[in-house]
Amino acid sequence: MTQRLFTDDTIPETGIYSVFHSAHQLVGSVKLHCGALFPRCSQCGDQVGFELMLATKVYQPMEMHIFELPLLEDEPPGQWEPES
Ligand SMILES: [Zn+2]
Repeated sequence: MTQRLFTDDTIPETGIYSVFHSAHQLVGSVKLHCGALFPRCSQCGDQVGFELMLATKVYQPMEMHIFELPLLEDEPPGQWEPES
C-alpha cells in the first residue's frame, strides 16, 4: 500500500514520486530528496499529492531541491507573484 503524501509534508525517502494535482497539469513524476518538503504547484500554490513510485539510494550532490512544480505548458510572462 502506497501512502499519499502532500505539499509541505517532509519527504520520507529519496526517490521518484508520482504527482497528483487535478487543478493543473503538472509533471507526472518527480525525483525528490528525503528531509526536504514536498513542493507545491507553481501555478496555484495549492497542495499537490505525491506517491512514492521508486526509492533511489543514489545521492547526486549536484541536484537542487525542488520547491515548485512547473506546468507542462508554457505560461505567458507576468503570471508569477512574489512570495508573501
Ligand atoms: Zn495548481
